[in-house]
Amino acid sequence: MRLIDKIYINGVFVTPHGQELFDLYNPATAQVTGQVRLADETDARAAIAAAKEAFPAFSRTSKAERIALLVRMHEAVTARRNDLLEAIIEEYGAPSSRAGFMADHPASQFLDMVRVLEDYDFTRRIASAEVIMTPIGVAGLITPWNSNAGFICGKLATAIAAGCTAVIKPSEMSALQTQVVTEALHEAGLPAGVFNIVTGRGEVVGAELGSHPDIAKISFTGSTTVGKGILRAGAETMKRITLELGGKSPTIILDDASLAEAIPLAIGAGFMNSGQACIAGTRILAPRSRLTEIEALAKAAAEEIRTGDPRDPETAIGPMVSRKQWDRVQRYIRIGLDEGATLLAGGEDRPDELGGWFVRPTIFTNVTNDMTIAREEIFGPVLSIIPYEDEEEAIAIANDTVYGLQAYILSGDMDRARKVAERIVAGRVLINTLAHEPMAPFGGFRQSGIGREYGTYGLEAFLEPKSLLGLHQDLVK
Ligand code: NAD
Repeated sequence: MRLIDKIYINGVFVTPHGQELFDLYNPATAQVTGQVRLADETDARAAIAAAKEAFPAFSRTSKAERIALLVRMHEAVTARRNDLLEAIIEEYGAPSSRAGFMADHPASQFLDMVRVLEDYDFTRRIASAEVIMTPIGVAGLITPWNSNAGFICGKLATAIAAGCTAVIKPSEMSALQTQVVTEALHEAGLPAGVFNIVTGRGEVVGAELGSHPDIAKISFTGSTTVGKGILRAGAETMKRITLELGGKSPTIILDDASLAEAIPLAIGAGFMNSGQACIAGTRILAPRSRLTEIEALAKAAAEEIRTGDPRDPETAIGPMVSRKQWDRVQRYIRIGLDEGATLLAGGEDRPDELGGWFVRPTIFTNVTNDMTIAREEIFGPVLSIIPYEDEEEAIAIANDTVYGLQAYILSGDMDRARKVAERIVAGRVLINTLAHEPMAPFGGFRQSGIGREYGTYGLEAFLEPKSLLGLHQDLVK
């Protein structure tokens, strides 16, 4: 049994003041594999104090110095890539096809931020003023379990690039990944206190970050419910808040799409990350004129998907991360049946012979957009095919949601797809692709969040503009 009993404050691994031990599981076996000792409010305050102390010097570092640090962080995390891969498979159950990306992505984000910084000018002239983009202060970075290492590194890379110091509150369910990343980042040799990593409960350590007056900014990725609480808590001290929350993304198959190409993309978008993805395309909007074909192809595709041992290279869908998450997905499958949707593939219970928290890849059809399974984020491999009559109706259904994170359009005609994309309320619209673009802004409309991450937009969320007036008297009217 593994015991993780250190947190990282002021450049040192320390034993938390908090005493609670929290069980860690392998979701593919549902067995306990170890425990993590959780930090408490006292630990959170010590981390915030360290980051506050480090901020004045760090905020004055040059762009070149910060680029050098980001390169070192990239190298340090890359050196632990295989350990991270193991941790992601053991603790999260990501199938090895997905886990490879999840192990590479954390390190690559440091270099993405180097690219952003190289082209970014922190000082600019606007009329007679000189405007300086200024680091905002100490940032609280809070991550979910579905890509814990990726979010730690992405958020931290951006904070460092901006000249901010940080306190990171990772998911308590991802302590193994956090340990590997923390050890790696320690090796990068940043000044003490610039980043601090404090694993603890959301309602304890997360809440302390969300209300503490010395935290200037929160960057949070997680559920919409918790995100709303963070927004309310931050109002008292006027925190700048970036929220990356849930989604119910539409995949619109237009009637001119080649189904041989469109169906694998639609299924891939829906079942990505074992369905535990905020950007999963969980509502497949199908033209009624081609519904029978789409159903047949989708059913065949779902039945071919391998669910099981995450280490098997053929496996496409791993287990749900926890018993709680498994129960939640089962509940939604039951609701789908009760509300009268037609089960096309999968269904309730575990696939045969699998003991962990596995779910059968499930597709419902004849779903209407007012059904619970079309409205609420399920966060598991459960998709809904929603028939539509014409393009106008497809757009209306796609936009009839409280969310607006991502959308997918599958079409044989790029011009047409583009026109439809312009009318979709979502932070990202992917046309005939599932590829990520790390330089483009990412984030949601409506209740999918506030603000954007990645690229220049992500960087500026950690900066405040400061205008200096009078330097250019010749231009003053
Ligand atoms: P969650 O909201 O339960 O937890 C996220 C993080 O917030 C965890 O570290 C948790 O400990 C912490 N937390 C919980 N209560 C808190 C509080 N009161 N104050 C401060 N922090 C608190 O989410 P989860 O179950 O870990 O992750 C799944 C959710 O994340 C899904 O809704 C998914 O859509 C969303 N998500 C969004 C994105 C995105 O980029 N938009 C990406 C991945 C996941």
